[in-house]
Amino acid sequence: MVIVLKDGASKKQIDELINWLTRFEVKSNLVEGVHSKIIGLVGDTTSVDIESVQAKEIVETVKRVQEPYKNANRRFHPEDTVIDVRGRKLGGDRLQVIAGPCSVETEEQTIKTAIAVKQAGATMLRGGAFKPRTSPYAFQGLGKEGIDILKKARAETGLPIVTEIMDVSDLDLFEDVDIIQVGARNSQNFTLLKALGRCDKPVLLKRGLSGTLQELLMSAEYIMSEGNSKVILCERGIRTFETATRNILDLAAVPLLKQKTHLPITIDPSHATGIASLVEPCALAATAIGAHALEIEVHIDPEHAWSDGAQSLTPEQFAATMEKLRSMAEFVGRPVDITE
Ligand code: PEP
Ligand code: MN
Repeated sequence: MVIVLKDGASKKQIDELINWLTRFEVKSNLVEGVHSKIIGLVGDTTSVDIESVQAKEIVETVKRVQEPYKNANRRFHPEDTVIDVRGRKLGGDRLQVIAGPCSVETEEQTIKTAIAVKQAGATMLRGGAFKPRTSPYAFQGLGKEGIDILKKARAETGLPIVTEIMDVSDLDLFEDVDIIQVGARNSQNFTLLKALGRCDKPVLLKRGLSGTLQELLMSAEYIMSEGNSKVILCERGIRTFETATRNILDLAAVPLLKQKTHLPITIDPSHATGIASLVEPCALAATAIGAHALEIEVHIDPEHAWSDGAQSLTPEQFAATMEKLRSMAEFVGRPVDITE
């Protein structure tokens, strides 16, 4: 971190600032040039509160030269993180395809979808039991009953289950879930993130609706700083001025995040586009650009889905997409994991 001091800062003020900085357990180096004075901070600066430094009277500007996250940082953890989910490796050299309905609606709908996506080659099952809906009058999810249905679908197919938590008070219900999803709307629910950091479960963390990549990494850091290193990042599109698609899929996030972090990266082309016909091309592009996993919404009857029907693939469409994904995944050297 570099602190540029204002002209006219007195020696007494500089000494006071350097003394104040000792609380962060970093080393301060004062460099006195002809025209300006700067303090270079060396050591672990992640805990230095940049705003409180900026608030000091003699400080002109402050600039971080190191990222403010450490557990998620590739600099301190050069090897890719590979997370084991019931024997499937997320983050390794296989592509994982997480597929299933937006919402768990009924046992029949979920189990039929689970069987269909498994047959098509999906490697994990998704389904929302707690649904973050824009309207309080829209279907809110089956809650605990939805999780019980997902467990039945897992027993039927062997597919690990991925489902979203919305409230920290529901955490006990997720004890037997394989991956806990944190949705875009809760991406910066720090109380929830910290609680997930204290449990030993993989967490699929989605990017906020208007979250920067750094904010996503800082949210991952919240989970990891509490001890849970099993974090999977998910790009699901961000809000811009464009209204033609539900969100804008930020594909460049994949290679950029790979430079910055060792954590596995998922792309959700369903929520990113909101349009079923765009899901396949975006899933192919996500695979080509190096995503470790895809999350795709599939419904046995999208026209009558209780949520997100417009972006849901039919089982037939999903099977056709999987065919193409298999070729693309082979081509880029991360073949789709094989379900037994
Ligand atoms: C979901 O995956 O069902 C979901 C609500 O996604 P997001 O949080 O990305 O909107
Ligand atoms: Mn959805």
